[in-house]
Amino acid sequence: MRKIERFMQQKNLHTGDVVRVVESENGTTVEYEGIVMPPYELSSGETLTLKLDNGYNIGILVDNIVEIEVLEKAKPGEKKEFKAVLPKNPELPNVAILGTGGTIASRIDYKTGAVHPAFTAEELALAVPEIFKLANITPKLIMNILSEDMRPEYWRKIANEVAKALNSGEDGVVIAHGTDTMAYTAAALSFMLGNLHKPVILVGAQRSSDRPSSDAAMNLTCSVRMATANFGEVAVVMHGETGDTYCLAHRGTKVRKMHTSRRDAFRSINDIPVAKIWADGRIEFLREDYRKRSEGEVFVDGEMEEKVALVKSFPGMQKEILEFFIDKGYKGIVLEGTGLGHVPTYLIDTIERATQEGITVCMTSQCLYGRVNLNVYSTGRRLLRAGVIPCEDMLPETAYVKLMWVLGKTQNQEEVRKMMLKNYAGEITPYTRFDTYLR
Ligand code: GLU
Repeated sequence: MRKIERFMQQKNLHTGDVVRVVESENGTTVEYEGIVMPPYELSSGETLTLKLDNGYNIGILVDNIVEIEVLEKAKPGEKKEFKAVLPKNPELPNVAILGTGGTIASRIDYKTGAVHPAFTAEELALAVPEIFKLANITPKLIMNILSEDMRPEYWRKIANEVAKALNSGEDGVVIAHGTDTMAYTAAALSFMLGNLHKPVILVGAQRSSDRPSSDAAMNLTCSVRMATANFGEVAVVMHGETGDTYCLAHRGTKVRKMHTSRRDAFRSINDIPVAKIWADGRIEFLREDYRKRSEGEVFVDGEMEEKVALVKSFPGMQKEILEFFIDKGYKGIVLEGTGLGHVPTYLIDTIERATQEGITVCMTSQCLYGRVNLNVYSTGRRLLRAGVIPCEDMLPETAYVKLMWVLGKTQNQEEVRKMMLKNYAGEITPYTRFDTYLR
């Protein structure tokens, strides 16, 4: 049982009771009167949510409650109106939360076991009331899919919604997303959003909201905090370690899900994270080379060539795998080579056939950490002669998304090569820092 349920049981509190609560935080005492709202699965389980007379919902940490008195018991069978009015405080920044699906944006109906999107303003207010202390929140559910079903057309839709929000007065955007392919979406938005000058933060949850160890509430709170920061890029905000002390903001082109189930599954690869967001709301930037917040119209540069494949090289790989893409008219292939960027040597002729037919072939490494280098071994040198583009320290998934975006603009081979090797959104670092490996 979570803290809130235990507290309600001890105090014999029920949803719908009218109560007077005295909250004490850092020596400041505040008194509230309101209606007890149902404890919400997505929340940290440590907050009593009250609906105040003015219609606003507030969350009070159970640990901060020094006095509680029931003024009126809920009448059995009586239906209370639980419509939330989201507070608008002119002193606070404005943040839009766009729901796309995945664990973070859903709640489980215990009676039916069905999973529903939790993105009405009402539900969000009940779920994580802490965020209303940080910003004026405008929630919007734009799709409700598992992120394994994400596709370029949806990346474009998300990019359009982000641009619309930022160009109409929002100071930052949070995108609630399934974790499985969140890094691909982060990379896609990093390339698609032109003249970006405000925070665009992707957030998810590794543990579903019905589990006491859920990371959903803290991740959401930290992402809203990051969305109000002096930052103007795309980042993924997720737990930084297994406890509940801080989240990390990772650059959208350098991040990867590295664990199936741990709360700290997301890591920056070949780079350090942008910032630490502590549970108390403090932001500690870990680097200086990030774009700061400024004014200006964001635009969407969202054309993508979808006939691009991401192919992993492995011992015994058959030529016909690559021939398939050539024969099917693919325009680009990103190879996830072994080590410094190799494939079985008997495939090099087929790769040369691909480049001669105008197909762009890019090389990344399945090691993930480190840079590709095709100048060291004869296999690499032969691949270079076959026209392969070595993608430096770019993640394979980022190179895949980038190649789609580049081929969406030009199919001129020389142009494509230049663009693949140019750093647009932090996807290529000038040199690999020693302290970026497996931290
Ligand atoms: N596999 C689903 C997804 O990525 C659910 C898990 C999650 O949200 O992390 O959307």
